[in-house]
Amino acid sequence: MKESWDARIERADYLASKNDAAKELLVFYGQLLRVQKEIYEYLRRRRGWLPTGVLEEDLPRIRAMLPELLRRVEASGPAALREQAQTLLRASGAELDEMLLGQWYAPLDIQFFAKAFLQPYARWLAESGAQLIGRVREGGAARCPFCAGKPQLSTLQTVEAAPESGGRSLMCATCLSVWTFRRVVCANCGEERPAKLGYFHSPEFDHVRIEACDTCQHYTKGIDLTRLGLAVPLVDEVAAAPLDLWAREHSYQKIELNLVGL
Ligand SMILES: [Zn+2]
Ligand SMILES: [Zn+2]
Repeated sequence: MKESWDARIERADYLASKNDAAKELLVFYGQLLRVQKEIYEYLRRRRGWLPTGVLEEDLPRIRAMLPELLRRVEASGPAALREQAQTLLRASGAELDEMLLGQWYAPLDIQFFAKAFLQPYARWLAESGAQLIGRVREGGAARCPFCAGKPQLSTLQTVEAAPESGGRSLMCATCLSVWTFRRVVCANCGEERPAKLGYFHSPEFDHVRIEACDTCQHYTKGIDLTRLGLAVPLVDEVAAAPLDLWAREHSYQKIELNLVGL
């Protein structure tokens, strides 16, 4: 599975050029991925510093990049986010810290700026071998084993790639880690009776499916890499935006909204 920031950016640019329906979303997401990559690189390149995993202690080292994210969204984001960016650019340092800490300890997928900013930080935490302290760990196997975040999406690979789960994995919405997860189980409530689990396709997106659960009425999207090995899950999930509209019309709620709010 291609997982680098560059692979994501390239895929967003490519899909934006091919996909009229989701073009605007993908152009914006491509811009966002570029800033996220810069935040990630900035953290990675800090000499003699590794994140502690305690956000209060790491904030003085990472908050300098937040205004950059705000300015970029102010310049090229959708109208509603541009307004929020302007407001946040006028907020005090203490208010911004509070926003980030609030999101860290009680994540909400509608907190766009905090989620987008903390994703590259959490990614670097996971890669640099930090220990996470203080985040509530609940939800069992359907939560990220590193940070306890909710799944952003599900992927299907060949069984050989993940034999213990029949090829299925989940990707964390907070730190982008990937962990194996059993194939026929709801990634929200753990329902495993096949009659309660539904899979929906549209011919337009052959390698993406809605994975819905009638017990908890939640869904996530699954990216089938056995059908399209070139897919970059995080980006292909965004590109298949029409499937989210379909799921919503059928009264399913997404386990975790993505960064374009779908
Ligand atoms: Zn995680
Ligand atoms: Zn469920």
